[in-house]
Amino acid sequence: MSLSTLCLRCGLCCDGTLFTHVPLRRTEAGPLKALGLPVKEREDGTPILPQRCAALEGKTCTAYAQRPEGCRRYHCHLFSALSEGEVSLEEALAVVDGAHALLAGGERGPELDDYLDKHFRGRHRRYTAQ
Ligand code: SF4
Repeated sequence: MSLSTLCLRCGLCCDGTLFTHVPLRRTEAGPLKALGLPVKEREDGTPILPQRCAALEGKTCTAYAQRPEGCRRYHCHLFSALSEGEVSLEEALAVVDGAHALLAGGERGPELDDYLDKHFRGRHRRYTAQ
């Protein structure tokens, strides 16, 4: 299925590239700790799951059935664009490959941030390939 093909090629929302942590409900902390995941707390006591996620192996979530609500609800901009037919799978995979190429090249500055904001982080505006 094309959406899972995209996610299994990407992994950027779980590997620490897009986010530093996943916010958790208090009730989610215990079950995730029981899976061996390193749940931490903000100063206000709110539990978080630090990224890169310890459940990620390669580009696969090994805690998929028990992943927290924040993971279940999150869809990046590119995922939404693919699911709504705004881009083809081929185009979406090329965007993912572009991100991985920037990361592999050691890019950590504004060019990478702009690319990630444009293609992945923006969720509430229409997708534009340009
Ligand atoms: S629990 Fe799974 S979906 Fe959530 S951040 Fe970790 S690897 Fe990603």
